[in-house]
Amino acid sequence: RCGFIAIVGRPNVGKSTLLNHILGQKISITSRKPQTTRHQVLGIKTEGANQFIYVDTPGLHLKEEKALNRYMNRAASSAMKDVDLVLFLVDRDRWTDDDELVLRNLKNARCPVIVVINKVDRLDDKGQILPMIETLQARHTFDHVVPVSALRGHNREELEAVIARFL
Ligand code: GDP
Ligand code: MG
Repeated sequence: RCGFIAIVGRPNVGKSTLLNHILGQKISITSRKPQTTRHQVLGIKTEGANQFIYVDTPGLHLKEEKALNRYMNRAASSAMKDVDLVLFLVDRDRWTDDDELVLRNLKNARCPVIVVINKVDRLDDKGQILPMIETLQARHTFDHVVPVSALRGHNREELEAVIARFL
């Protein structure tokens, strides 16, 4: 199996951290500061007969007045169009206007969209993820939902198994 996989989501949800974790190396810069990823970053993972090419993207930015924001939005939007699968990252604790903006762009995607609920290491118990799952279900019919911790590696193998299933 092979394919291009876009990692999209609002700034700071953990897209670059997830890419680094999947690849096992620090290929994309991560930071608490938003707008750390300004271009598309490609990461290739080859395992046996599988070759997955991940596209880390800048988050989409609501304020389009700034040229840098427009540039980053273009990079993020074009990544969504030319891939075989989209990983839509959200934070486990809240749904924001920025998530809504990403979702609006995603509705044009012609490939499956998997929601990745990140930062579950910050939950005291697993039940606390249910409000986010309900929020997601109310907004769109996604192909799959996987909770992970990109930072701690929680559920990474499950996520990669789901990815392989959709390619
Ligand atoms: P990006 O803007 O979506 O690429 O986000 P980054 O990957 O740069 O991460 C933003 C911040 O969230 C950084 O401080 C990361 O360490 C942190 N972060 C990312 N994933 C996780 C996670 O699974 N758990 C926790 N607690 N923090 C995370
Ligand atoms: Mg980033």
